[in-house]
Amino acid sequence: MTADTNTSRPLDFIRERVRADVAAGKHGGNVVTRFPPEPNGYLHIGHAKAICLDFGVAEEYGGHCNLRFDDTNPTAEDTEYVDAIERDVRWLGFDWGGDALYASDYFDQLYEWAVELIRKGKAYVCSLSPEEARAYRGRWNEPGRESPYRNRSVEENLDLFERMKNGEFANGAHTLRAKIDMSSSNMNLRDPVLYRILHAEHHRTGARWCIYPMYDWAHGQSDAIENVTHSLCTLEFEDHRPLYDWFLDHIDGIHRPVQIEFARLNLTYTLTSKRKLRRLIDEALVDGWDDPRMPTLTALRRRGCPPEAIRDLCARVGLTKNDSVVDLSQLEFAIRNELNRTAPRVMGVLRPLKIVIENYPDDLVEELDAINNPEDASAGARKAPFSKVLYIEQDDFRRDPPRKFFRLAPGREVRLRYAYFITCTEAIEDEDGNVVELRCTYDPATRGGDAPDGRKVKATLHWVSAAHAVPAEVRLYDRLFNHPNPAAAPGEIEDHLNPGSLEVLKDCRLEPSLAEAAPGARVQFERLGYFCVDPDSTPDALVFNRTVTLRDTWAKIERAQKQKMAGKRPAAAEPPRTPVKPG
Ligand code: ATP
Ligand code: MG
Repeated sequence: MTADTNTSRPLDFIRERVRADVAAGKHGGNVVTRFPPEPNGYLHIGHAKAICLDFGVAEEYGGHCNLRFDDTNPTAEDTEYVDAIERDVRWLGFDWGGDALYASDYFDQLYEWAVELIRKGKAYVCSLSPEEARAYRGRWNEPGRESPYRNRSVEENLDLFERMKNGEFANGAHTLRAKIDMSSSNMNLRDPVLYRILHAEHHRTGARWCIYPMYDWAHGQSDAIENVTHSLCTLEFEDHRPLYDWFLDHIDGIHRPVQIEFARLNLTYTLTSKRKLRRLIDEALVDGWDDPRMPTLTALRRRGCPPEAIRDLCARVGLTKNDSVVDLSQLEFAIRNELNRTAPRVMGVLRPLKIVIENYPDDLVEELDAINNPEDASAGARKAPFSKVLYIEQDDFRRDPPRKFFRLAPGREVRLRYAYFITCTEAIEDEDGNVVELRCTYDPATRGGDAPDGRKVKATLHWVSAAHAVPAEVRLYDRLFNHPNPAAAPGEIEDHLNPGSLEVLKDCRLEPSLAEAAPGARVQFERLGYFCVDPDSTPDALVFNRTVTLRDTWAKIERAQKQKMAGKRPAAAEPPRTPVKPG
């Protein structure tokens, strides 16, 4: 195996092939690839694998990758999707140089080539109804039957095809089919349809056409028109390759790309099908294509996932010829890995519990030094204001601490990050017994975090100063499904939604440095996870989305699920951090 000189990773089978073609001087040593989305929905994480491959290979071999919209199905397509796809490809870090291309730009050429096939006796107008055509097609284990219209004369076919184009016939009245082999074991070769009649407005060509090319006809010929050298697509097109090649074989002087297939990216707990994602939206199970629980690129961006993490995941997953499922925790790992390097640390309290430091001067405010990123010295430091009244996390206090709970409890001493040791002297409760406020004392000698006498504490808590903190809404996102394979799970998709996939906390308090945080900014709330400022956030109404927790809390849940399925009693699985009802 040859290795990639940049990463010393072994080359995958596609790069091996491209490298060999370049070395052999095929196509003059040029490499042209394309990413061919249909503009009928938003791109998802699966598409990212294809994008990274198509653009990556072109970049690595000094070639070019086209963005080509496969816009041959006017009823499902829309410019909204064109714009979203362009935005998402750019966001991932790729550039197609110049304008995007469209299969619809080739409709005239495709029509001419279809006429060429008719003239050569390789295509005919078929007038079977859609139901009849289906019956004639046969089944995988049973040959099809030839259409009674298969032997129409070239003249009749040319005349009918032109009249199809001119709009003389109703939808479904005729199709143009290639004349190949109705008994082929490959269904794709049983006289496939090239054109169908569809009286529908197209988002680019308007009412100009009422016949539209089918995917197989448009796709390969578009590749040829664009001088694509390597047409990389997913495994479900493997059976289409003989047809891809047949078309090229029967058109004179056409450029010859090769089609190479690779396995799709599938992720556990995730749907990667536009059709199924659209269903989630139509049934209002999510808030739209950019609901941060969706696996679309626009949603991942909104949630705070950096594009580098997606590219890193795609590189790690690699290329194979077998479909497999990648654990979602690998994406979460890639996100943490990237954000650990790049996201500034800040303090934010999601479920505030007020504490009063009784021996701290009433009016004193100290500006304490807080480090922005221990992983990146160049990120510098900031000031965090400290005062007599603070908020800590409700979760960080227990009146009756269980074993191994080392955080704050009555009589116990802990460290406040960047500040002082404090000791809880009293827990104040409301009439229902909920702890609503703590009284504490602090040790002035511990400023900056250590005790001169060497005494130790077992916990360091995050906090904010009540008078300085800014209020915010924080949306805690988690996996949308609790079934590892939602597409194949029994029953309805609704049955497998994770009821905890979104929790909205309206009364969070964040350190004041976040007051002006701009939409899209990514931070780590210390001890809690990575968060990103929502696009709808304003300085008056801050909104943060949780991107990921700091640790993989699902590993335990999954172990418990497996044990349950194996019929064992699950070990007590600790759920992701939940609010602690004080008292
Ligand atoms: P979906 O099944 O979600 O509708 P699609 O294949 O119909 O996806 P297209 O817009 O046709 O969507 O896809 C554009 C390109 O992205 C195709 O070349 C396709 O092979 C590739 N692609 C789609 N899904 C995946 C995936 N899960 N993994 C890798 N590549 C994918
Ligand atoms: Mg497709």
